[in-house]
Amino acid sequence: MQLYHTRHRVQNAGGSIFWSASSWYRKYFVTSRRLWHPTIMPDMKVAQVPRPGADFELVTRPIPEPGPGQVRVRVEACGICHSDDFVKQGHWPGLIFPRVPGHEIAGVIDAVGEGVSTWKTGQRVGIGWHGGNCFKCDPCRRGDFVNCVNLKIPGFTHDGGYAEYVVNPAEGLARMPDDLQPADAAPLMCAGITTYNALRHSGAVGGDLVAVLGIGGLGHLGIQFARQLGFHTVAIGRGKDKEDLARQLGAHRYIDTDSSNAAQELQRMGGARIVLATAPSSKAMSDLVDGLGVGGTLLIVGAATEPLTVTPVQLILSRRSILGWPSGTSRDSEDTLAFSVQSGVRPMIETFPLAQVAEAYDRMFTGKVRFRAVLIP
Ligand SMILES: [Zn+2]
Ligand SMILES: [Zn+2]
Repeated sequence: MQLYHTRHRVQNAGGSIFWSASSWYRKYFVTSRRLWHPTIMPDMKVAQVPRPGADFELVTRPIPEPGPGQVRVRVEACGICHSDDFVKQGHWPGLIFPRVPGHEIAGVIDAVGEGVSTWKTGQRVGIGWHGGNCFKCDPCRRGDFVNCVNLKIPGFTHDGGYAEYVVNPAEGLARMPDDLQPADAAPLMCAGITTYNALRHSGAVGGDLVAVLGIGGLGHLGIQFARQLGFHTVAIGRGKDKEDLARQLGAHRYIDTDSSNAAQELQRMGGARIVLATAPSSKAMSDLVDGLGVGGTLLIVGAATEPLTVTPVQLILSRRSILGWPSGTSRDSEDTLAFSVQSGVRPMIETFPLAQVAEAYDRMFTGKVRFRAVLIP
C-alpha cells in the first residue's frame, strides 16, 4: 500500500518548483480561498483502487474543478457499501481504474460549475447511487431517472466519496436537513434510501406483516423504517443474540433462523405481505418465499450474485411475486433524510479516518462492523 505523499508539489510565480510541507500549506491555501494563488494546484487525499482486486492506495491528487452542470462537494463523511466491492473487484461493466469508490456521501458544496443555478456554496448535501442522469434516454424521457441507461454513479462511473472532495453532476445532489450529522447522513444515502424507498413503494399499508431478512447495514435501517412506516415488523436473523437489538430497532417480533423455520413462522402469523431481503444471501432469500402470504412479495435489495432457487408453483398458487429495487433518485434521498429526521431513524455506525480505509472495508466485508463503516476524510 502506498502511503500519503507528505509533501506537495507547488509551482511559484517565477515558474520554478519547490516543495512545501503539507499542514501549513493546506491551512492557508485550501481552507482560505483569499490566499489561493492561481498558480498553486492544491491537493486532496483520496483512497483509490489502482486495478481490479488490488488493495486500496492512499494518494494525493489535485482537487478537481467542477465543469459545466457540476458541483464540487467537500466530503464530510462517506459510508462503505457492500456494492463498493463491485468496484474493488472490477466486477462492473465499463469501470476505469484507478477508481475512487464511495456512493454514500455527505458534505458541503464547495464550488459550483457553469450553468448551475439551483445550488450554492455552503449548502449541506448528500450524494448517493443516483449521481446523475442523461435526460435523453427512454427511461429519462419517462422521468425514471434512476434507470437512466447512462446513469452516473459516484465511485463507479466517476470518482466517489473515499476522498476529501468529489465532483458530481448537480442533478445528483440531495438537500440535507440541519439536524442530521454527516456521519449519520452518509449511510442513509444508499442503505437508507434503498430500504425506505423500497418499503414505501411496496404496496404494504399500516398494520401489514412486513419481514426484514438480515440485520446488517441495510437490515438495521430496514427494521427501523418498517416500524416507523406503521408495519407489523418482523426481523429475521441468525442467532438468538440478535433478538434484543432487533427489538430495540423496532421489531415487534424476532425469528431466529438457527432455531426455527422462518417461512413456517411467518405462515403461522398469516403470511408476510412483504419480505424485504437485505442479507446478500440468495439461499436465505429463497427459503422465505414460502413465508409470503397471498399476493405477497419478496422485495430484494441485498445485492447477491448467486441464483435464487424458486419454483414457479411456489409463486403461482398464492399469486406471489419477486421484485428487485434499486435505491432511488436524489429527490428520493431527500425524502429519506427528511423522514429519518422526522421519525428518529438513524444508522448505527463505526467511523474511521480515510487512512484506515482498508481496515474499515475489511470490517464491512467480513460482516464485523456494527452496522455501517463510515469514512471521515
Ligand atoms: Zn450502496
Ligand atoms: Zn438517461
